[in-house]
Amino acid sequence: MKNVQSKEPIVIIGAGIAAVYAAESARKAGFDGRIIVCGDEREFPYDRPPLSKKVLQEPREVERISLRDNAFYVAHNIELRLGNAADCIDRRARQVVFADGTTLEYGSLLLATGSSLRTLPLLCPEMPRVFYLRRIADAVALRDALPNVRKLVVVGAGVIGLEVASVANGMGIDVTVLEAGPRPMARAACPTVCEFVVGRHMQHGVNIRTGVTIIDVTEISSGYRLRLSGGGTLDADAVVVGIGVAPNISLAHSAGLEVCASGVCVDGQGRTSDEHIYATGEVAFHYNARIGHAERQENWHHAVAHGEHVGRAMVCSGPDYQEISGYWSDQYDFSVQSFGIPIGEHDVVRGDVGSGSFVVFHLQAGAVKGVSSVNASRDMRTGKAFVRTAAKVPAAVLIDSEADLTKWRAAEGA
Ligand SMILES: Cc1cc2nc3c(=O)[nH]c(=O)nc-3n(C[C@H](O)[C@H](O)[C@H](O)COP(=O)(O)OP(=O)(O)OC[C@H]3O[C@@H](n4cnc5c(N)ncnc54)[C@H](O)[C@@H]3O)c2cc1C
Repeated sequence: MKNVQSKEPIVIIGAGIAAVYAAESARKAGFDGRIIVCGDEREFPYDRPPLSKKVLQEPREVERISLRDNAFYVAHNIELRLGNAADCIDRRARQVVFADGTTLEYGSLLLATGSSLRTLPLLCPEMPRVFYLRRIADAVALRDALPNVRKLVVVGAGVIGLEVASVANGMGIDVTVLEAGPRPMARAACPTVCEFVVGRHMQHGVNIRTGVTIIDVTEISSGYRLRLSGGGTLDADAVVVGIGVAPNISLAHSAGLEVCASGVCVDGQGRTSDEHIYATGEVAFHYNARIGHAERQENWHHAVAHGEHVGRAMVCSGPDYQEISGYWSDQYDFSVQSFGIPIGEHDVVRGDVGSGSFVVFHLQAGAVKGVSSVNASRDMRTGKAFVRTAAKVPAAVLIDSEADLTKWRAAEGA
């Protein structure tokens, strides 16, 4: 047991998803000193996934996305300090210095600073009809603009770009998605899921163009004229850019902690190169005992699981982190779910892709290491169990949609 006896404060920088779950977990682990969660955003800690989904469609939704209500913070005696960015860490004094000049001393410090958006110099966030999506204010600005948009260009066919495309299409907006790479959702989905998603967008009339970049932008009366690589132009009333994120490592870097391009380097407890400082969530390049090396994850499940793990480890260390994570994405009337690796050496499809309900098992060395699905929750649940045990299920069983996977699992003990 480490900190349970200690009364020195736990200070958490960043008031996002990982931060809130870490604070709750530290309390549950028995820490009864001060826990102070410090965020640069003014809003009560909130959930980000709805920003590219319901928040764009329903005016009141933004009021419903707080992670926890005030009563929770009071009940758990978690102090919130919002609207004030941490500027630097004085490791010798064990002190954080904030933008407003105030300081906070810590016994243990947790960096939960998440990521920042990658931006395009030709379409920078300051331009009036250019939108990025990370924070509440970004989503509200886009939500308010969409009713007056006729032609929308989405740059980047990742999960968030495609979610925005589906919402805009549902509002009757003419949408074109431009993707620099050879296919949409390239990192997040296997070719089968990708083909299905592209097919649905095409059915709805969204034009997805791959292998295309924007080489020049000029302002026109209605918005922007985009000159495209390979020739041709495209006019847009508004542009949404969703080209990924980079971890917010600057605080850690300037404090001399070990960092790399993938994040703040932490061990299986979430501990950085300074034993009093930890990192969690999207900012952490964390060791995962299940795969035997470090990785960085950009999804909600990981932010929650890693936040809980590191919050607990700050109080009493236990086994190294070994969770498997995954993501979901809601577009039109379908939901994509993925757990474990999203692309295997060998992918096995169960169900009829054309029906809009199917599962893909991602195999590595004959074992199920990942599962993705579209509108198929039951098989997804069993698929997750297979992934957790790296079950060696014969491809013939996985493919056979008449075979009951739950029964097979129970019979084989997989
Ligand atoms: C629009 C959108 C839709 C998404 N949809 C999905 C989805 O459908 N499914 C899914 O699995 N995942 C989704 N995600 C991803 C998921 O929300 C993130 O992985 C998760 O939010 C990461 O949590 P985090 O706590 O690590 O970081 P964050 O949520 O980014 O929180 C970090 C916080 O730290 C603050 N901060 C940074 N620097 C400082 C500083 N110096 N001082 C004080 N505060 C600081 C930041 O402003 C931020 O508030 C989505 C993300 C976005 C943006």
